[in-house]
Amino acid sequence: MSEIVEKVKIKTFKDYEGYKKPFWCPGCGDFSILSSLKKVSADLGIEPSKTVLVSGIGCSGKSYSFFYANGVHTLHGRVLPVATGIKLANPELLVIGLSGDGDSLAIGGNHFLHTARRNVGIKLIIMNNQIYGLTKGQFSPTSNHGFVTVSSPYGSVEFPIDPVLISLSAGASFVARGFSGEPNSLMEILKAAINHKGFAVVDVLSPCVTYNKINTYEWYRENIKFIPDNHDTSDLKSAILLAISGDGKIPIGIFYRKERRTYEELILDSNNPCKVDLYCGRDRVIELIEELSK
Ligand code: SF4
Repeated sequence: MSEIVEKVKIKTFKDYEGYKKPFWCPGCGDFSILSSLKKVSADLGIEPSKTVLVSGIGCSGKSYSFFYANGVHTLHGRVLPVATGIKLANPELLVIGLSGDGDSLAIGGNHFLHTARRNVGIKLIIMNNQIYGLTKGQFSPTSNHGFVTVSSPYGSVEFPIDPVLISLSAGASFVARGFSGEPNSLMEILKAAINHKGFAVVDVLSPCVTYNKINTYEWYRENIKFIPDNHDTSDLKSAILLAISGDGKIPIGIFYRKERRTYEELILDSNNPCKVDLYCGRDRVIELIEELSK
């Protein structure tokens, strides 16, 4: 499914209201992510007709339709390859992936690694609730060892993936973690991510109030710590040490940011002997859709 929007004049964050209302459970952390993204978009003057939201499957799956911009609802785990294709076809677009922990790190884990090392100029917001919510509460790749769920009644034997650590080691050029219970800091992070040219990963701790009774708002408030202002975000080694600090607290803030040439810049570089003309404007896309639907 996809949605294409016209150019509009945005005055406030309310103008980013999508064509559908969120169906999330009352209190779900995803509400805060969506409203933070709308407020940041209004602050930055983001033009909906030049923005594409891509979402996959899970409670995050319909996020694209809750935000006024072009949108694609793609297959499970395929947010990043679809977003990459959009960015390569039209590098001027702001392309934002909205994906859950299962969508981005289980079935989409392979794409995650390769998008990071390629430094594709897209933004990925991981709505990380440490559980599969849409399918009623199974353990996910970010669930803690021993986590009791319907699919792990004696506790999960698996150990969790840390999206921040993976992003740093795979080559993402912007890596941050936010918490949906701290919208002000989340908005600062999202603003920096959108302003970053390369692949930006924002792992957002987003409580699932219906199925995850361990990682609640209260639990996160007791277990997070803000990254100190003097942390050097240009130093990869410091970022990795911070991610594995092992003091029992989860760091929140920007771990790492360093601009380097993006995948689309390298692919479309006129000096690149393998360069192909990938640019494909909206009119051509509509022509292609019409051709294919004959
Ligand atoms: Fe949010 Fe959990 Fe409800 Fe899904 S099941 S909408 S993650 S609270």
